[in-house]
Amino acid sequence: MSSSIIQQNPFQSMLDRFNTAADILELKESLRQKLQRPEKQVTVNFSITLDNGEERNFEGYRIIHSTALGPSKGGIRYDSDVHTEEVKALAAWMTWKSAVTGIPFGGAKGGIICNPKEHSKSELEKITRAYTKALADTFGPNKDVPAPDMGTGPDEMGWLMEEFSLLHGKPIHAVVTGKHLNAGGSLGRVEATGRGVSIITLLTLQKLGYNAQTTSAAIQGFGNVGLHSALFLYEAGVKITAVSDVNVALHNPEGLNIPELILYFNLNNRSITGYPKADVIPHADLLLLNVDVLIPAAKEDVITAANAHNIQASIIVEGANGPVSSDADEILKNKNITVVPDIVANAGGVTVSYFEWLQNSLNQQWPVQQVNTRLEDILNQSFADVFAAAQEYNVTLRIAAYVLAVKKVAQTHLLKEAVG
Ligand code: GLU
Repeated sequence: MSSSIIQQNPFQSMLDRFNTAADILELKESLRQKLQRPEKQVTVNFSITLDNGEERNFEGYRIIHSTALGPSKGGIRYDSDVHTEEVKALAAWMTWKSAVTGIPFGGAKGGIICNPKEHSKSELEKITRAYTKALADTFGPNKDVPAPDMGTGPDEMGWLMEEFSLLHGKPIHAVVTGKHLNAGGSLGRVEATGRGVSIITLLTLQKLGYNAQTTSAAIQGFGNVGLHSALFLYEAGVKITAVSDVNVALHNPEGLNIPELILYFNLNNRSITGYPKADVIPHADLLLLNVDVLIPAAKEDVITAANAHNIQASIIVEGANGPVSSDADEILKNKNITVVPDIVANAGGVTVSYFEWLQNSLNQQWPVQQVNTRLEDILNQSFADVFAAAQEYNVTLRIAAYVLAVKKVAQTHLLKEAVG
């Protein structure tokens, strides 16, 4: 799927942007060092018995970047390529994401080195339960609250909640978000990240003077985020000319019928391969199409110094975490491309996770309209804040978002030191 030749370390990308913001804020060295490093980093090793009777070992991680603003929050990724530098970056991005969105959480991320497609449901359940057991002291509704990420979803979150509850001898729903509705999940959580991407994309279009009805977009990734971003933007009148999944990239300059494509995808074993009303193009070409909006919604580091020069879109909205590496920032800026950063663009997921955590803690069930209205209000506000900060500091939207987030977390530390 990756089109980049040079693979940059995602943690380095995070640090580069953090340091630019820290320079603007004139952060003193000791605080700068504290905010760069994770508070806690745990590696766990465990084994399960596979369906064929073989014993298999797994390595997993949970990295807590910050608890300055509240319990740490962030997803768990199941992927063969998971590594600590990636999880460290993803954990820090969660801190900045919650801070800029105004959600009272810190940041964390977890991961297990495994290919979920190679495992049966019962093996995935065993893996999730063993990982939860190994991290039982780390997780907790007021300590560290996991959620889904790449390769995980409501099933894994339900098993995690059950295992954690068993270990504590009582149901503890608020230990994890992104659960099925009948396990204490929130209405609107599954679609939340994609809904947020579409809300932020439409706000950007409005701000830059585009009309959604005459705007075209290409979306990389047809997982939970890409699929729902495509659907909501299609419903808003945006012409989606290309989408891709791990196997194939589809292009139709006249625009794809997204509801029909989703139906095809659901009937075709969750794959877009073979959809007839589009041409197949190389994956790398999707990123270089002549569209108004490009939404990378798959993985980190797909737009780097190696291909940034050739991007033709005017706007990039980061549906994924870290899809643009820091070595591409200057190139995109010089090309006048507006990049809406991940920590704003994909914050819809953690925002509705916060609502789920609140509903669990208060023993409530909110109607979907309430979830969606509150989500929209929060994203409107953070988009307006970031746009205003970009003008105030005369920086890109990304650096503006980092400045706001880092300032908020730094102030909390300074306050603690002052009273401390
Ligand atoms: N994995 C999602 C993210 O990267 C959601 C995290 C959460 O809901 O805690 O934002």
